[in-house]
Amino acid sequence: MDCLLCHSDSTSFVADTFLCQQCALVFKNPADFLSTEDDHDRYAQHQNNSEDQGYRDFLGKLLNPLKEFLPPHFNALDFGCGPGPTLSLLLEDEGGDVENYDPIFFPDAHLLIPETYDVVTSTEVVEHFKTPEKDWDLLVSLVKDGGLLGVMTQFYDESIDFQKWWYKNDPTHVAFYQEKTLNYLADNYQLDILYNDHKSVVIFRKRGY
Ligand SMILES: [Zn+2]
Ligand SMILES: [Zn+2]
Repeated sequence: MDCLLCHSDSTSFVADTFLCQQCALVFKNPADFLSTEDDHDRYAQHQNNSEDQGYRDFLGKLLNPLKEFLPPHFNALDFGCGPGPTLSLLLEDEGGDVENYDPIFFPDAHLLIPETYDVVTSTEVVEHFKTPEKDWDLLVSLVKDGGLLGVMTQFYDESIDFQKWWYKNDPTHVAFYQEKTLNYLADNYQLDILYNDHKSVVIFRKRGY
């Protein structure tokens, strides 16, 4: 099967997934993807909200390293913010003017304008991308040249027993990124990797000036 991200050849991997030989994306078989309606039912059960200190701490894994790179004032978009926007509040505390977009909960497509944001964040979103090439095209396009793109998703590496991995057991999780996949994204979209915790957080800067 062609890789859903880079179109190179992929081979069968464990648990009915595919592994791209070029960008190392691991992805589920599109024939097994949930319907959009079933996805919505699952997301509606997500309980993340801004009152939850555990969730705030979780977002700190991205926010804390991101702070190092934030200008004093910036505009930002939290892409895929979910039902209880929280990262936007934390970014506002850092001087940001922040919009929330979510295809289900805050579907304001007017926010999706290319080259608009100094900072775009996306936490626990990219593993849900069913059309990762198109979805990454959009995500990166939103960032101004020189702007920041902060992404959180659980990275896969060979130390993880994929067959038993909790992260892949969520039926709405369909795409899993390895170190090599992050490098592919950087090369393909002209991004520099400013920060990588090798677990779940990567911060890119879009080249251009
Ligand atoms: Zn690929
Ligand atoms: Zn998820």
